[in-house]
Amino acid sequence: METLIPFSVVFLAGGTGTRMKSSVPKQYLCVHQKPLALYSFEVLASLPEIQDFVVVCEPQYESLFQGSAKAKEVNLRFARPGLRRQDSVLNGIQDLQHNPLVCIHDSARPLIEHSVVRRVVQAAESWETAVVGVKVRSTIKICDGAQIVVDTPNRASLWEVQTPQVIRLDLLKEGFAHAQEHYLTVTDDVSLIEALGKPVKVVEGSYSNIKVTTPEDLICVENLMNLFHSKT
Ligand code: C5P
Repeated sequence: METLIPFSVVFLAGGTGTRMKSSVPKQYLCVHQKPLALYSFEVLASLPEIQDFVVVCEPQYESLFQGSAKAKEVNLRFARPGLRRQDSVLNGIQDLQHNPLVCIHDSARPLIEHSVVRRVVQAAESWETAVVGVKVRSTIKICDGAQIVVDTPNRASLWEVQTPQVIRLDLLKEGFAHAQEHYLTVTDDVSLIEALGKPVKVVEGSYSNIKVTTPEDLICVENLMNLFHSKT
């Protein structure tokens, strides 16, 4: 039988999602009558190897998670969002103890799979830091401020990273201390570890693990859910 690697979760459900142009933050918009955030919450909360499960959200949304049938299966705690995504993560790790692997996931990515979560946790067990990603399918241009192309990186080495991102707690704390000292703002968690000059392992995930950012993404998620449902 496969040995399950224990880990803790920091589940990010803060922020306002201004690009969605909605009064409700994007992670609480409903798809098939269910708030987006509950999809990946339930996938993660059903994994028996989870130790602590910290949801970072505004107080008015706590009951949403507490009301999920899966909430009973985890040691559920709450933390408050910060101004930036990285501040929310920092708040989320405050009460974690015993140096666990910390699996950080964006609630705005509803379509995660158990197998991918376990793969990235397994990689983090070996590498201390691992992230889910997919190979970039488009050609990427680097432009200057006037939108003039400066460079075209070789696509073969480009990966688009997603969440979950999994980092050993002590290393993550070291990354935050370094970021604070150097006033770094990062848009994902493993960047904190890259800034320390330490390795980050990328684990191949799925193109369907999209992050809902705009109204079009919401339609895309709904269509993918319908497609997966019709196959089961
Ligand atoms: O805004 P962005 O798409 O980068 O947000 C990614 C995830 O981080 C979302 O699930 C959002 O709920 C969360 N977030 C947060 N606190 C913030 C900003 C974003 O928890 N201050």
